[in-house]
Amino acid sequence: MDYYNNKKVVSWKTFKNGVYEGIVSGSESNMYTVHIDTEHPGKSFCNCPFADGRRVVCKHMIALYFTAEPKVSKDFLKEVEMWEAEEEERERQHYEDMRKYAKSFSKMELQEQLLDEMVQLEERRNYW
Ligand SMILES: [Zn+2]
Repeated sequence: MDYYNNKKVVSWKTFKNGVYEGIVSGSESNMYTVHIDTEHPGKSFCNCPFADGRRVVCKHMIALYFTAEPKVSKDFLKEVEMWEAEEEERERQHYEDMRKYAKSFSKMELQEQLLDEMVQLEERRNYW
């Protein structure tokens, strides 16, 4: 996403629907030749040290993909925002559950539990 936002794709062209080739600048001003086939991802390649000769997806391929199909990057960002909102909601719910659990104890139970923990902490300290 950073490579896409920072316009690292120097040039690119469409071969046919979903097949793109371009030059993407990497770190230390290296230039990489990137070919992506969105229909057959296994046919994609890039000559960067990470992807050269391997069937992997690299950041240059994704930058080219996002540049050629900006809607994909928008959808991806929307999805990430949704995941983050869901994760936030899960954390909030978890905290709320813990709070309810803690509140379900009486003062006496909590005092006993605290005492137990203090004794255990002391024993551990003496052990070490
Ligand atoms: Zn690459």
